[in-house]
Amino acid sequence: MTEVRRGSRRPERPVACGQCLCGAVRFEVHGPLRPVVYCHCSKCRRSSGHFAAATACAAEHLRLTSADSLRWYASSSVARRGFCATCGSPLFWERLGSQRVSIWAGTLDTPTGVTASAHIFMADKGDYYRVTDGLPQWPGALPQS
Ligand SMILES: [Zn+2]
Ligand SMILES: [Zn+2]
Repeated sequence: MTEVRRGSRRPERPVACGQCLCGAVRFEVHGPLRPVVYCHCSKCRRSSGHFAAATACAAEHLRLTSADSLRWYASSSVARRGFCATCGSPLFWERLGSQRVSIWAGTLDTPTGVTASAHIFMADKGDYYRVTDGLPQWPGALPQS
């Protein structure tokens, strides 16, 4: 998933497309996207400037069509964050060893086809805003269902 894949075996139209602010990183999603989850953890807040809105897909369904500026930052011992080295936009989050990758919903072209479903890591949220949209709120990660 870290390399541009050419000569695709999947010629169908992507489910979604996205890019960073400057366009140096571009990607397509060729499989279902998870509903958007808002993450209020301190790492998402520091790296994005606010809380993060992330959808996700299977790693094999993410196709990087332009990735020369994509860099990965190991934000903890278990996860890394993908961002554009040119414009600084956060794009991806990946748990090491996972077969899924989170995608910052704001990087997707509209219409995205996804809607928000929950707030997570509310115990870690910033003190300067309130969450009043009525969606479920969890103190930490989403409970396994
Ligand atoms: Zn960029
Ligand atoms: Zn987070």
